[in-house]
Amino acid sequence: MNYKNFPMVPRIIFGRGSFNQLGDILAPKRLSINAPFIYLVDDVFKSNAFITSRISLSYDDKIIYVSSEEEPKTSQVDELVEDIILMTKERPSGIIGIGGGTMLDLAKAVAIMLTNEGEAKDYQGWDLVKNPAIYHVGIPTISGTGAEVSRTTVLTGPDKKLGINSDYTPFDQVILDPELTKEVPKDQWFYTGMDCYIHCIESLQGTYLNTFSQSYGEMALELCKEVFLGDKLSTKDSQDKLMMASWHGGMSIVYSQVGVAHAMSYGLSYLLGTKHGIGNCIVFDHLEEFYPEGVKLFKAMKEKHNIHLPKGICANLSDKELDIMINISLSLEPLWENALGKNWKKVMTPKKLKELYKKM
Ligand code: NAD
Ligand code: ZN
Repeated sequence: MNYKNFPMVPRIIFGRGSFNQLGDILAPKRLSINAPFIYLVDDVFKSNAFITSRISLSYDDKIIYVSSEEEPKTSQVDELVEDIILMTKERPSGIIGIGGGTMLDLAKAVAIMLTNEGEAKDYQGWDLVKNPAIYHVGIPTISGTGAEVSRTTVLTGPDKKLGINSDYTPFDQVILDPELTKEVPKDQWFYTGMDCYIHCIESLQGTYLNTFSQSYGEMALELCKEVFLGDKLSTKDSQDKLMMASWHGGMSIVYSQVGVAHAMSYGLSYLLGTKHGIGNCIVFDHLEEFYPEGVKLFKAMKEKHNIHLPKGICANLSDKELDIMINISLSLEPLWENALGKNWKKVMTPKKLKELYKKM
């Protein structure tokens, strides 16, 4: 057995208000006055002083506001890298991503592509990155994806939706300040939070499970239950706990994999642009057959928070469109193998997958 040797986020700060320390954390990392820090910030914060007034810009530092309306694309990463090269005198001192999974993934990908030749699409896959990325910092403002700890950055490219999985992908520094999540809209809180819950279920029910993944997964699952099913938590405690659940959920899949819901929601996302959080929810709602207990609890959480998921999003798709989705989904072999075991192809045939999609 050859065990994988994974990198981890080497520095992490946790606490309400810890975002105030950003300037102190970055100062020693400045390479020269011509090598700026570039902040990639979700444009939802453009006129939000709570975040922006606490980013202090010196020398040539810049904030680039980016919309998270759509999930990151390889072409978008290439454009950002091009813009940054043109606007800076020297290679930047660092890239700081502030936002949800979308901004965190963009920051990771941009940091990689500033030191690696070619286009982002060339690096979608496993261990294709040759040079270390520039220093990059992740600051989540919504909890659930685990993108703050993961070794991947999920990108939609011209012919696939696949991450850049590499030892250079994880952040050099993460700031976990749960207070930053205080204005997340309720439905989005649920969808992104459920991404974490689904990570736990898929990891804990998977065939790749081991004690490393199990211990993180169980911790994250307990926190999710407290947050989404309990009645005792204050708003602050709930924000704190969900942020830690996201972290642990992400740690759990470092050494295992996600499963059926993720494999299917990648198909939805590729064809219809359905976003990760809500897409996972739409899919998971129909997966009793694979995750009976997990889906039961999911439905209880949905009920409790009065969440109404879209229905019939695949009802009017042509066979050709369904086939595109099915191909994208079935290409994610490790996810299916984790979910259903070595003989997964016998269980999840294209026909079976089509039936499932048609229910959604
Ligand atoms: P997101 O980043 O797309 O944000 C969702 C919405 O919430 C956006 O409208 C955003 O503007 C808003 N928002 C974020 N923080 C806010 C705040 N504090 N106040 C008000 N509004 C706020 O959503 P997400 O669910 O965090 O991320 C999804 C993305 O993460 C997908 O692209 C997915 O592929 C990726 N992802 C990556 C990994 C990984 O390991 N790299 C894992 C899971 C998901
Ligand atoms: Zn996910």
